[in-house]
Amino acid sequence: MKCPNCGSERIQYSTHTKGGGFSFFDSCCGFLIFGPLGLLCGSCGSGVTTDEFWICQDCGKKFDTKEAKKAQDAYNQLQTQKENERLQYLENKKLESEAIAQYGSIDEIDIRYRQEKRIFEEKKRCYDIARETYIESCDEQSKKKILTVDNVSDKIANIILIPAIATIVLLFIFMPLAIVTGIASIILFITMVILSLKKDKYQLELEEKFLQNDPEAKILKSQMDAAEKSFSYWNELKQKIDACRRYEEQNPPT
Ligand SMILES: [Zn+2]
Repeated sequence: MKCPNCGSERIQYSTHTKGGGFSFFDSCCGFLIFGPLGLLCGSCGSGVTTDEFWICQDCGKKFDTKEAKKAQDAYNQLQTQKENERLQYLENKKLESEAIAQYGSIDEIDIRYRQEKRIFEEKKRCYDIARETYIESCDEQSKKKILTVDNVSDKIANIILIPAIATIVLLFIFMPLAIVTGIASIILFITMVILSLKKDKYQLELEEKFLQNDPEAKILKSQMDAAEKSFSYWNELKQKIDACRRYEEQNPPT
């Protein structure tokens, strides 16, 4: 057992007894239930309670077993978390030294990371441009569908605040109407969600059409995917090395 305030183990057990004697409340209850004889209930020892508690010899904090247990649990949880962080750090550190042995230095890794990032961004840009160009140049029908969904969604976004605010105001003035405007704003909100799902679907359809119909699309996509895969390796390595630095900054060697 430890003090929840200062963590000291120099604590002293103590008890405090209260109640007992004649209780006016018990006496009244006894009278109501058992009649005049029930008045004696007031002098029964039912009201006696014993408080058990501890006093810290160092900081003077008075606490009970429950409080001490709660503090101990919190302390244990923190220790577990710290230990997990340490294990994760050791794992990252091992990876870091392996990477340094393989690629020369942290700076070298950093250069590769930035290089791969640039390549991936460039490939993605090429793919995006080709896709946009394809969508611009053909398929009026799909474009119109997306545009309509966008327009309706914008209009709802503009008016949805009206029933929402009305609901809050009417809550204090006229409840039945508040329910109506509340339902209206919920319906509008759900409509917006459905529209955004529809838009995603239309966009996916367009992307598929692009991949099927544009001869360049597949090549650009495979280049982009390859660059992304390569970049993700370096990105992960860089994240882990950065996590090592952060851990070392937060836990300086003692
Ligand atoms: Zn204490």
